[in-house]
Amino acid sequence: MTDGVDTVKKYQFASDNYAGICPEALQAMEAANRGYACSYGDDPWTEKACRLLRDLFETDCEVFFVFNGTAANSLALASLCHSYNSIICHETSHVETDECGASEFFSNGTKILLVSGGHGKVDLEAVEHTVKRRTDIHYPKPKALSITQATELGTLYSVEELQAVGELARRLDLKLHMDGARFANAVATLGAAPAELTWKAGVDVLCFGGTKNGMAVGEAIIFFNRDLASEFDYRCKQAGQLASKMRFLAAPWVGMLESGAWLTRAANANACAARLEARLREIPGVGIRFPRQANSVFADFSPEVAAALQERGWHFYSFIGSGGARFMCSWETTEADVDLLAADLSAVASRHG
Ligand SMILES: *Cc1c(COP(=O)(O)O)cnc(C)c1O
Repeated sequence: MTDGVDTVKKYQFASDNYAGICPEALQAMEAANRGYACSYGDDPWTEKACRLLRDLFETDCEVFFVFNGTAANSLALASLCHSYNSIICHETSHVETDECGASEFFSNGTKILLVSGGHGKVDLEAVEHTVKRRTDIHYPKPKALSITQATELGTLYSVEELQAVGELARRLDLKLHMDGARFANAVATLGAAPAELTWKAGVDVLCFGGTKNGMAVGEAIIFFNRDLASEFDYRCKQAGQLASKMRFLAAPWVGMLESGAWLTRAANANACAARLEARLREIPGVGIRFPRQANSVFADFSPEVAAALQERGWHFYSFIGSGGARFMCSWETTEADVDLLAADLSAVASRHG
């Protein structure tokens, strides 16, 4: 096993979920493991995690913990829609491309309508057109708008852009959902209050990612619009998302939020991506695809360079968005890891460039 772990150590740019559990989350799980606690969320850890999230967002939101992001997104979206409604989202969104139709499944057939937009962000005119092009009974009535922050392409909606999205959603009578699998990375870059990036801009429900932030498992679903959370507990239970030992989903949030690690760990991932971007920009034959704003860098290089890099044992994705190589940094990435990757890429680019 030691060998396996050592080998994987070099392969960690494929996704931020290649990383392990960060110490603050693990210590909290260990603390939660001392003794008995009530089950199904009726325990002090869950109560405390909910309180800390309400403090963080400066509002009396409703909070639920589920196992993963697909469940969080699809159950949250299902709670916004009837089966005859539709959900508008970006064509590269995780909800559309990486959740195996879960939103349609859990909402009993709600249709997803796609819009485009630069840098992974929804184009507001396209959203408006999608809502207004048909108003007849034959068209699946648009009811929700889903955006991702940080986006699948590692870009961010600024506070002003979020306010514009929120304003449009209100005007078009759409509920606003935010996929925040990397919400912490967005906050770390933008330096804005979490409240400004969510409910103050009109977000009704946020899926706040814990896993990619450094936890073993678990995402928080945060309803700022409490009416929408009505009977959401039943939805979670029916979908197999009600943890009986809930304290182990909740405790890591306590550890991350109390220590501030949710933000400092995300800032490390962002800083490593910034370093990687700077190093890659120096390499002839390597291009950068999108403005790097969070913890990923999308690079362009020849298929020969990609193959040679993989030959050297590096893992990275090339199927996200419209292609290119995606290098994802995590809480665990170090400057040394970045430099090793950059040195290898530089070496293979000069040979195959
Ligand atoms: C990782 C990710 C999720 C969650 O994915 P799961 O594998 O279901 O936990 C959701 N949205 C985005 C944008 C992601 O990158």
